[in-house]
Amino acid sequence: MRTPGELGTRAEAMLAELAALTDGDGNLTRLYLSPAHRAAADHVATWMRAAGLDVGFDALGTVRGRAMPTAPGRAGNKRLLIGSHIDTVVNAGRHDGMLGVVAGILAVEEIKARGIQLPFGVDVLAFGDEEGVRFPTTLVSSSAVAGCLVPSDLDARDADGVVLRDALVAFGGDPEAVTSAAYAREETLAYLEVHIEQGPVLEAAGLPIGIVTSIAGQSRFSITVMGEAGHAGTVPMALRRDALAATAEMMLSIEDVARAGNAHQMVATVGRLAAKPGAVNVIPAEVVFTLDIRADADAPRLAAIAELETRFRAVAARRGVTVTMEKFYESPTTPCAPRLQEAFVGAARDLNLGERRLASGAGHDGHAMHHLTDVGMLFVRCRSGISHNPAEFATIDDMGLAVEALIKAVERLAADAASSGDRI
Ligand SMILES: [Zn+2]
Repeated sequence: MRTPGELGTRAEAMLAELAALTDGDGNLTRLYLSPAHRAAADHVATWMRAAGLDVGFDALGTVRGRAMPTAPGRAGNKRLLIGSHIDTVVNAGRHDGMLGVVAGILAVEEIKARGIQLPFGVDVLAFGDEEGVRFPTTLVSSSAVAGCLVPSDLDARDADGVVLRDALVAFGGDPEAVTSAAYAREETLAYLEVHIEQGPVLEAAGLPIGIVTSIAGQSRFSITVMGEAGHAGTVPMALRRDALAATAEMMLSIEDVARAGNAHQMVATVGRLAAKPGAVNVIPAEVVFTLDIRADADAPRLAAIAELETRFRAVAARRGVTVTMEKFYESPTTPCAPRLQEAFVGAARDLNLGERRLASGAGHDGHAMHHLTDVGMLFVRCRSGISHNPAEFATIDDMGLAVEALIKAVERLAADAASSGDRI
């Protein structure tokens, strides 16, 4: 039986081994279906076999390690899924995704070592496409597992013109067998994922782990403000229709509305802005800017968008400009199941780690897995909130506590299954 410290030390060593498997030159870059992805998938499979799991690869390249149920019960034909992804962004850190796979393997290994009996099977999954960097798709592998893959995603091309379907064949996958990757709803109990927080909330709270309440929904808009160009020296201030000055006011209202949504962890960002004609001595006539807005539930996000529309129109009317908002992306909130949150809360309480709950502002495989089954996520404290960066870091102690909390959460689900018979 390993202590949390020993589990963390092992997790750190495993992450270091995975970090060496890269397509990058001197940095960690592991894109979906690349040679480094193949090497990492094989490496994960080796660990899974060593942990006594029955290992296979599905049609989309997801590694699956299967542990059979060890205790009799009506949940015996059901499976608890635990996973995350092993692809990375370009010049990545070593924890994002990989920690969840490593935590799943260590938890199953440790559950066996401790002789903990489970009335359901456990499948550890290592997905290949979460970051969506190589192809203009994302969550292809978890969507296939969840049975919600959009078939046209297989025709996506990378920057070199390679079609996903062909890359999959080269990897050893089977684009014709996509439907076989899907689990049946009735055989699935839940999906659990441990992930680095990728934000500063837990660090600020002084807590090693936190329980995720939802994966934030998000809406993205392209907003166009039209005014009138004019001579910077001759048009008096009162007679201007300055599209950029109007935009500045709109941006302040975006901040204002997002701050007012703090209770729903609302965040809103203008990440891109272009003003025309863009000359030092010409009043800006046209501005196009983006808005990315997220919150822990759909209703407050949609209400904030409606509020912003009203405020933008008021600014536009007062300043004699026009404004149009075009939505180009929307993804609904993925709620984490209360019963799975409670399992993690109970585990955190057992370990005296507080019970901080927080929404995930970033997307995760759980977003796709929600189409199949209930989703539960546990976040691990992330130094300075830095992620998607080689400086990404979690301590050995925190990682060990996260694995221990995962084990305890699985134990709680097993106890629930034993008491309720067929539903955890
Ligand atoms: Zn991730």
